[in-house]
Amino acid sequence: MDFVIFGGSVVTMSERGIIRDGAVVVEGDTIIDVGRSDEIRRKYPRYEKIDAGGKVIMPGLINAHQHAAMSLLRGYADDYPLKEWLEEWVWPLERHMTGYDIYVGALLTAVESVIGGTTTINTMYHYMEDHNEAMAIAEVGLRGVVGHVCFSWRKEQDIKALEDSARRWHRGADGRIRVSVDPHAPYTVDPEYMRELRAVTRELNEKYASAEAPVIWHIHLAETSDEAQKIRESFGI
Ligand SMILES: [Zn+2]
Repeated sequence: MDFVIFGGSVVTMSERGIIRDGAVVVEGDTIIDVGRSDEIRRKYPRYEKIDAGGKVIMPGLINAHQHAAMSLLRGYADDYPLKEWLEEWVWPLERHMTGYDIYVGALLTAVESVIGGTTTINTMYHYMEDHNEAMAIAEVGLRGVVGHVCFSWRKEQDIKALEDSARRWHRGADGRIRVSVDPHAPYTVDPEYMRELRAVTRELNEKYASAEAPVIWHIHLAETSDEAQKIRESFGI
């Protein structure tokens, strides 16, 4: 579909700055022209027109940290401190979640993202082969970096999930999806496992990635004021 979005303030994110009463021309899935509404409408008379009067026309937002499937847990055990929230409420519940639950939760997040103007999400969750977050992102048409979250207590399972996800999804869905290696946090992933995950990442990059689309890392860091103490307690460092 070819169309012109006109009449809004175009935030170009380039040296052209903001174009008041501007327009953007889209052919298929590509922006081919940007300019003032009157000029653009003259230049592309037969294109479908979408009136964005009083609105902002801007690039899609990027959500840099998300757990897409957790839309299903929204509001659950709210207001507890992080440690209690995770250990006594969230992790016990998540143990019962199937791949399909994860897929459905991610589907809801993906649709809500589009409605809110977010076109790329970086999500950390549990990768399962039968259903997963990548499937939901691919179906809705978002871009996404989909990570498998790693913990010291399930190394073997993690390494397999990382390999499966990279083989199946890295640069998948016409390049819209990439995968990442996600050590959960410095207090749940021991130093030796951290080093092992670096090696796994190198291996996945050699097998499945390119310089433009590498397999990256995604980790929680400095979440709470007592994090340094938690790391000391867990690993004595
Ligand atoms: Zn998080």
